[in-house]
Amino acid sequence: RQEQFRALRAIEPVTKDGQRISLMMNAGLLVDLPQLSESGAEGIGLFRTELQFMIASTMPKADEQEQFYRNVIKQAAGRVVTFRTLDIGGDKVVPYFRGHEEENPALGWRAIRLSLDRPGLLRTQLRALLKASADTELKLMVPMVTEVSELRMVRELLQKEVQHLSRFGHGLPRKLQFGAMLEVPALLWQLDELMEAVDFVSVGSNDLFQFSMAVDRGNARVSDRFDPLGKPFLRILRDIVRGADRNKTPVTLCGELAGKPLSAMALLGIGFRAISMSPASIGPVKAMLLGLDVEALAKVMDEVLDDHRSTVTMREVLARFAESH
Ligand code: PEP
Ligand code: MG
Repeated sequence: RQEQFRALRAIEPVTKDGQRISLMMNAGLLVDLPQLSESGAEGIGLFRTELQFMIASTMPKADEQEQFYRNVIKQAAGRVVTFRTLDIGGDKVVPYFRGHEEENPALGWRAIRLSLDRPGLLRTQLRALLKASADTELKLMVPMVTEVSELRMVRELLQKEVQHLSRFGHGLPRKLQFGAMLEVPALLWQLDELMEAVDFVSVGSNDLFQFSMAVDRGNARVSDRFDPLGKPFLRILRDIVRGADRNKTPVTLCGELAGKPLSAMALLGIGFRAISMSPASIGPVKAMLLGLDVEALAKVMDEVLDDHRSTVTMREVLARFAESH
């Protein structure tokens, strides 16, 4: 099967009914980069920048960060890289960066909250990313956004760094795309403001599922209790796609859900046209979509999702569809 998937590398990811799907991969270290051409991914949909911090024994210095991003961009060889700003805290522990003991770290001082409270840290990272992307395109996104106002604050810092660099004659990115991760349910009631405030949105389904269903993603006792392919979560995801489409904002999903063929099929069925996953999943997901009639699936899924009386599970519906097509 491995061989079969390799043979698919050069084949365009287009569904049976002609929908072009963007298949991207997740990464976080230089060792991941060769997987880009190995897997045939179109680009990197999620680059977890905190990994450089997590494997270091001291805080990476500004020039170390810049050099690292330069190497990533160079090895990506023209393919798009979506850098996520530091997502420290919660399940992502950086040993030398100790905050306070927290009773609920997942709900605590983490990600963009921490970055906004330590603007020096964020500005250093933004500057390193801008410098490393001189004369290329920089695609950047912010984790764990809760209120759209947080994005404005990051944009202001970003603008300051751009001005600073241009004042000192540094090269700047040819194009800058600014996005948000959607992984906190509060954003579901700010969809239109959110879509307007960014160039793109990426759904972090691992955290969005954890927060929507109130199940700790790291607690095996409850993490499998509810199905991410159940109706509540699929309706949430469908609302996000509708909000993005309504505002013509590109939307992608980069959580684990994207990497399982049946789940990926469901994501396409509710309207996603771009997903990002671990490189090993690209082949199996591509094999699935080449034979998929996504319009037919969308119809079946919408019917079940809109029927409040139906007791059939979405997983049954999806499995049946996969079998009969
Ligand atoms: C997510 O939450 O789905 C996500 C992609 O980010 P991480 O797994 O790094 O929290
Ligand atoms: Mg997350």
